[in-house]
Amino acid sequence: MLKLKGFTNGEWMDSLSKQHSNVINPANGMIIAEATSGNVQDARIAIDAARKAFDSGIWSDLSATERSSYLFKIAEKIEQIAPELSQLETADTGKPLKESEFDIADAADCFRYYAGLITKPDGQTYPVSDPVQAMVVREPVGVCGLIAPWNFPLLTAAWKIAPALAAGNTIVFKPSEVTPVTTTKLFEIIKEVGIPDGVANLVMGKGTIVGNEIAGSNKVDMVSFTGSTSTGREIMKKAAENVKNIALELGGKSPNIVFADADIETAVDYALYGIFVNAGQVCNAGSRLLLEESVHDEFIERLIAKAKKIRVGPGDKPSTEMGALVSEDHMNKVLKYIELGIEEGAKLAFGGKRITSNGLDKGYFVEPTLFVDTKPNMRIVQEEIFGPVLIVQKFRDECEAIQLANDTPYGLAAGVFSQDGAKALRVIKKIKAGITSINAFNLAYNEAPWGGYKQSGIGRGLGTFGLDEFSEVKQININLKVEPTRWFDH
Ligand code: NAD
Repeated sequence: MLKLKGFTNGEWMDSLSKQHSNVINPANGMIIAEATSGNVQDARIAIDAARKAFDSGIWSDLSATERSSYLFKIAEKIEQIAPELSQLETADTGKPLKESEFDIADAADCFRYYAGLITKPDGQTYPVSDPVQAMVVREPVGVCGLIAPWNFPLLTAAWKIAPALAAGNTIVFKPSEVTPVTTTKLFEIIKEVGIPDGVANLVMGKGTIVGNEIAGSNKVDMVSFTGSTSTGREIMKKAAENVKNIALELGGKSPNIVFADADIETAVDYALYGIFVNAGQVCNAGSRLLLEESVHDEFIERLIAKAKKIRVGPGDKPSTEMGALVSEDHMNKVLKYIELGIEEGAKLAFGGKRITSNGLDKGYFVEPTLFVDTKPNMRIVQEEIFGPVLIVQKFRDECEAIQLANDTPYGLAAGVFSQDGAKALRVIKKIKAGITSINAFNLAYNEAPWGGYKQSGIGRGLGTFGLDEFSEVKQININLKVEPTRWFDH
């Protein structure tokens, strides 16, 4: 069995607490690893190491080209062990191997993207009125606390670690206690490529202990958090203590709007892709399907016909298309929402049950599920379920589609399907969401900004925005005419 440790100042460390937690394969309930369970003191030691490394300039003083070469090496090493990483990711999360392979390749690309970006021209000059040359340069923020969820473990680690290190910061990373396996492998790579000690640190443990300490510490200059909106709120409060920079990637309840003039086959395909990939445990999932009245019944029929054929099973079985939910607790939360939907009076059109047949009884499998005849104020419409549960809403016209789409506290993603390009663009421009698509859903690119409006977060990761997020901007004014101002001369 794998024994997972923390990584501080270049050394693998067991927690001072001497406690461990079991990491479970959600497809069969088996223990696959034992992870050390960090306490406040472990977090403080890691933060101190990152602080010392940052203040020494050992990383931030390197040239961009030198930092870049480390990141390129990390990308290469990820690719070299991609099959192993993919298998571990599947064992840890339950997702189909095909999805893990995609995530791991994307994580390597993310390191490569920032390795390239950091060496590109940067900074600006300003035409100010005095005889002054004004310019702006990018500098690292300092010590960055990075806190991640369980749905895309290695990929989220890459989304945070690559830009943070590229920008010259030092880091303390806390993976989800549910899925720490591949992150440990990433830190093995970080050690192997020779990133200086103390620059990148890993602390395992509970969010309420380790995460809370990172978010509140005065020695941490920035916290970048991905997770639920309720935890994001707690992090904001803690971060306020020393007015840290914050980046929050939070939850969603994203609308996927289909007009009657859409290419229906494509729209059905993306509706499935939008909610059943990673069993719906995707922050930007298309969890609300908004259908124009005239196409509603036909669309639902076609959707159910396809949903019935989705092969649910263990992620490591080649034929599996949808895997287990990440944990028993999470499965129970999703099943509770399904019960709630029925109690609220929505019509369960498909699925809705735990799957225990065909040897799946030890795992945490839930059927692809579809609710129709919903009302906008139902909790299943308003709240993030984070499982394979699609909520259908009906609309009459463009105006109602926009109104319904914007009618939740979230604003992460949105999609519009229509063959009328002007209408699709008109509608998407009215939706309050940060990640939007026309005639597609569930797209994510390392090159493009990622983040949400409203209660889906603050800031934008990825792309050039991701580097900005982990940077401070400094204005430098150079006086070209060196003489007194005589402001106070009488
Ligand atoms: P979560 O909020 O429960 O936990 C996320 C991380 O925060 C974990 O590492 C956890 O240990 C830690 N944490 C928990 N309580 C904490 C506290 N009080 N202080 C500091 N850290 C704490 O989220 P989750 O269940 O792991 O992940 C699912 C959620 O993440 C969903 O809401 C999903 O939408 C969101 N998510 C968002 C994005 C995005 O890009 N917007 C991406 C992936 C997941």
